[in-house]
Amino acid sequence: MATDHDHQVLVVGAGPVGLMTALCLVERGVDVRILDKEWRPTLHSFALALHPETLRSLEEFGLAHDLTERGRRLERILFFDTARQIGRIDYTALPSAHPYLLVVPQSILESALEEKLRQHKVQVEWNHQALAFHQDDHGVQVEIAELEKVSLGYPIARSEWAVRRKQQVDVDYVVAADGYRSTTRQSLGIRFADYGHAQTFFVFEFPYTAELPPEMRIVLGDGHSNVFWPIEDGRGRWSFEVSMSETETPGMDQFRKLLETRAPWFSPVPESIYWSTLIRFDRRLSENCGEGRVWLAGDAVHATGPVGIQSMNVGLREAGLIARNMASALQGGGEAGLAGYEKACRSEWLELLGVEGAPSLTGEAPSWVQADPDRITPCIPGSGEELSRLLTQIGLHYAPRTATVT
Ligand SMILES: Cc1cc2nc3c(=O)[nH]c(=O)nc-3n(C[C@H](O)[C@H](O)[C@H](O)COP(=O)(O)OP(=O)(O)OC[C@H]3O[C@@H](n4cnc5c(N)ncnc54)[C@H](O)[C@@H]3O)c2cc1C
Repeated sequence: MATDHDHQVLVVGAGPVGLMTALCLVERGVDVRILDKEWRPTLHSFALALHPETLRSLEEFGLAHDLTERGRRLERILFFDTARQIGRIDYTALPSAHPYLLVVPQSILESALEEKLRQHKVQVEWNHQALAFHQDDHGVQVEIAELEKVSLGYPIARSEWAVRRKQQVDVDYVVAADGYRSTTRQSLGIRFADYGHAQTFFVFEFPYTAELPPEMRIVLGDGHSNVFWPIEDGRGRWSFEVSMSETETPGMDQFRKLLETRAPWFSPVPESIYWSTLIRFDRRLSENCGEGRVWLAGDAVHATGPVGIQSMNVGLREAGLIARNMASALQGGGEAGLAGYEKACRSEWLELLGVEGAPSLTGEAPSWVQADPDRITPCIPGSGEELSRLLTQIGLHYAPRTATVT
């Protein structure tokens, strides 16, 4: 087994949060290696919008301008019931250099981050899986498998991933941004605590034949949240919250029926779909964000509903915080900052998940907000002070007790 002693930090996972962590570390002069068990970046665009605060943090790397050029600005959220528009939130009221939501496919964000890393001479090592960790007071030993596709089977051709070679890496720290099913979190024995109210969504991407509206549209129904995103010319996405008992990928018939019953005002009525899927979202938070020299970030730490795109956006800012504190620890500044990262991250998520400090109703709250205020926070693309300002517009008072993770 080959051994590598050359790197200070190993980032496991090259999703948006891992890429951002690696970039923030490299910019601080840290020697980084980043790997991912997949054979290429995502082609999907699961999380498709950036919050204003995220764009501000991307400015640091000269990425906000390019992404804004490639994305689509949405200046407001409109709220609907089945019959009509019932409310709105304007992003233009935010005191931000980017007072809008930016719709940009996750794949474009990831390739922009990867390209920036390449400019720093850091290449993502695709097809590399972190298998196991052993840590002591001085560092972490990581076992890595390099994967390759091997052809199997005759007469029916098929292929399977196999381990081409194994290597052992010695690093000072590991950041695992290895997603919702984080095997790092599991191997550290960290509980992914459940905060209830999981949600199942049917998602449909479809040809949108009219001019796209300049807003995100949220439909709040009886116990369900639904969202329409104008993605790009000729393309829209609807996500409908459905019963937890649903298990099958939905088709055009279900799409038509959901539109008729939940958004009959929507036009033009779609006649086909590009793709559809069924996804379940839990509400969870890790009891710790790491242990010793192995730390977690992004979906490895938290899970929430998809409407407000909070998990990826807050995760991208966690990347900046953990990188800053890890760089400082590597430069002899001690590890207190890493404990501070955990505290800030968990506090923010306990609030976003409504476990602590949930927004309260003010006298200005309209009846649709009064009906179910807890359901609204996870639907708003924002966090921290920005979320507070947005919620004020619909009569909710939210005072984040901790500074936003930045
Ligand atoms: C099907 C689906 C639909 C989604 N829809 C939405 C949505 O509508 N709205 C929304 O806001 N969010 C959505 N999300 C969530 C959103 O994609 C995530 O919040 C975002 O990608 C988080 O980024 P991350 O970097 O933390 O984790 P991920 O993007 O999950 O990246 C983790 C990476 O780690 C790699 N990895 C895992 N284990 C290892 C290992 N042992 N060694 C090496 N690499 C490893 C994986 O291959 C992966 O590339 C969706 C996610 C999924 C899976």
